[in-house]
Amino acid sequence: MAGLLSITEPTANTTDTVDDFFATPTLTTDATDTSSKHSREQIAQLFDLPLMDLLLQAQTIHRQHFKANEVQISTLLSIKTGNCPEDCGYCAQSGHHRDKTKLQAEKRIDVDKVIAAAKRAKSSGSSRFCMGAAWKHPSAKDMPYVVELVKEVKALGLETCMTLGMLDTNQATQLADAGLDYYNHNLDTSRRYYEQVVSTRSYDERLDTITNVRNSGMNVCSGNIVGMGESRDDRIDWVHELLKMPKAPESIPVNLLVPVSGTPIGDKILAEGELSVLEWIRTIAVTRICCPSSYVRLSAGRESLSDAEQALAFMGGANSFFYGDKLLTTGNASQSGDDRLMRELGLTKQFAAPRAPKHLPVVDAMSGHQSQVMMAE
Ligand code: SF4
Repeated sequence: MAGLLSITEPTANTTDTVDDFFATPTLTTDATDTSSKHSREQIAQLFDLPLMDLLLQAQTIHRQHFKANEVQISTLLSIKTGNCPEDCGYCAQSGHHRDKTKLQAEKRIDVDKVIAAAKRAKSSGSSRFCMGAAWKHPSAKDMPYVVELVKEVKALGLETCMTLGMLDTNQATQLADAGLDYYNHNLDTSRRYYEQVVSTRSYDERLDTITNVRNSGMNVCSGNIVGMGESRDDRIDWVHELLKMPKAPESIPVNLLVPVSGTPIGDKILAEGELSVLEWIRTIAVTRICCPSSYVRLSAGRESLSDAEQALAFMGGANSFFYGDKLLTTGNASQSGDDRLMRELGLTKQFAAPRAPKHLPVVDAMSGHQSQVMMAE
């Protein structure tokens, strides 16, 4: 931190450039803050900064809230693949695009197979195990299955995350009671551009699920996908949506679109050209500044990036990524490649800190009677 402090304390030799840096939107310094209160205009100003100023500011804020060179690592497993009733225009798993994508749908996978995958994830250094199902929402008959998965994976000492589509309040409570640490539900983009991406579910329905997750006591994971043909204004509005929440998501995946042939958005981007990687890095850095206490995760799109591009993303304040050769249906950077990159960048892995389930089984030593106790938050 000494080097950074010497930058933040102006001296007689301080240059105009350094003064300019601190004239940009206010730095947040309270380590308990989960979100800053940047206005939309201030978010836009951050996006407009010279890239090095933006990265320096993001890295400075990152170091005020997290260990400088530590990253959290998650592994993602698809527990039910394809034939999703939603029509997300970027997604190979949508049943609406299956004639073109030819994705092979799979039913729910057995609990034993999920546990085996979670054990492999843990032994390779992941601290969080994320399970995704291509559903509009879990059905009543799916709930005992997902609750069992949460309990079994937590018993391995891993943090748990699920992404299962929309949740009502009762479902969110069931998952929170089972001890689920994070629930993922991405906003994907701005309210305005969302209509170009999905027609089977509204932006407000997405926000309702996020509210149900927040009210249940679970951590919220909610991110975006950059490079779907949206404008910078849409990326600014997406950040602003996060700041309008009562509390920013604890985990924010910033995905770079992997254009999948056969999906409407994938085909459009393959024909028209992809967004500059630097704009994705800018989005990461602005997210870090505006949500200083959140984990900002590199998710889809990392596979095609160079070491230097990924290093810039970490410089911009990213401190979490998916580990493993595959995400839900798209490829990911190889695990051996990630290990090598972490060594070269001097990054270390963060250990898991799973949340206790709200209700813990307690066995009376005298009678053998089993009951449940409510855990304090
Ligand atoms: S992104 Fe999720 S909800 Fe949308 S089609 Fe794919 S699996 Fe279904």
